[in-house]
Amino acid sequence: MWFMKLTFWNFIRTKAPLMGYPYKGETIDCPGCGGHGERIARVDRYWKFLPTDICTTCGLFFTNPMPTDGELEEYYRVMYRSTYGWAFKSVPKAHAEKKKKDAARRSGVIASFFENPRGLRSLDFGCGLGELVAALERTGFDAYGFEPGDVWSQHLSSERIRHGTWQSVQYDAEAFDFVSIMHVLEHLRSPRSCLQKIHGLLKQDGLLWIEVPDMQAYGTKSGKRFHFAHVLGFSRDNLISMAFECGFVPVREVAKEEIGKSRSQVSIVFRKANPEDVLTVDVSATARKNMKEYGEFSHARHAIETIGTRLGLEAGRKR
Ligand SMILES: [Zn+2]
Repeated sequence: MWFMKLTFWNFIRTKAPLMGYPYKGETIDCPGCGGHGERIARVDRYWKFLPTDICTTCGLFFTNPMPTDGELEEYYRVMYRSTYGWAFKSVPKAHAEKKKKDAARRSGVIASFFENPRGLRSLDFGCGLGELVAALERTGFDAYGFEPGDVWSQHLSSERIRHGTWQSVQYDAEAFDFVSIMHVLEHLRSPRSCLQKIHGLLKQDGLLWIEVPDMQAYGTKSGKRFHFAHVLGFSRDNLISMAFECGFVPVREVAKEEIGKSRSQVSIVFRKANPEDVLTVDVSATARKNMKEYGEFSHARHAIETIGTRLGLEAGRKR
């Protein structure tokens, strides 16, 4: 596809402020619940034009027009790591080290979900260099993963890790005791289809750990708002609601301290739902809260609040 080749011009179009991204996309309804989207932002965190809607039913944020499957696939294969992480030909060492530490920590948390992890089969959706796959192997898991990026995939050393997208990879049905999908779902235009695929891969008593950025933790901070790679912006309750629609119920929420993060994440462990399970979240409250925090004048309101807080601090110091 011409528009996403890693050329100098496309690189500029993907980075320069006050320009749109090089994609056409198509107008869609909420990818989480099918609800109606209302425009909530036109500019992203880099001051680039990026039309973003909020679902009036469940409060999910989504890029609209949404990039097509082909556009997203090309973007991830060739542009994502270079425009977002400045990795053109190889993976930066510092990044790999950080990921290793993170994976070691997470593998400990994952092992604690099971009585005896030895021999259990795990699959990491969008596994990067496979740090978590390796860490889980050390913990005793029979661990697998796959990764769509070209630059990343060239480093894949293990046969346990494949190069592919979530749509293209094939595994046996109900083959896994544990599936992780960490900071991946917010990049997908069809999150429900992806979760349905995971449902088919997971054993009846298997566990699924989903982690995504928490849009409610960002609030009105404009520097943390939208960017092209995140075509979806989740909050706790609309993630739980969407996962429920795909056959999952939450069993445990992972605190930011457990995974060594300073900011809140939506980090939830699910099991497969039984017929008697009921959904207990109220997504209309999420929609109202997100609408207020990200809506019109929210930038100005945030600026005033910040000044107010600073003045308050100054006054406090003088006393
Ligand atoms: Zn929705």
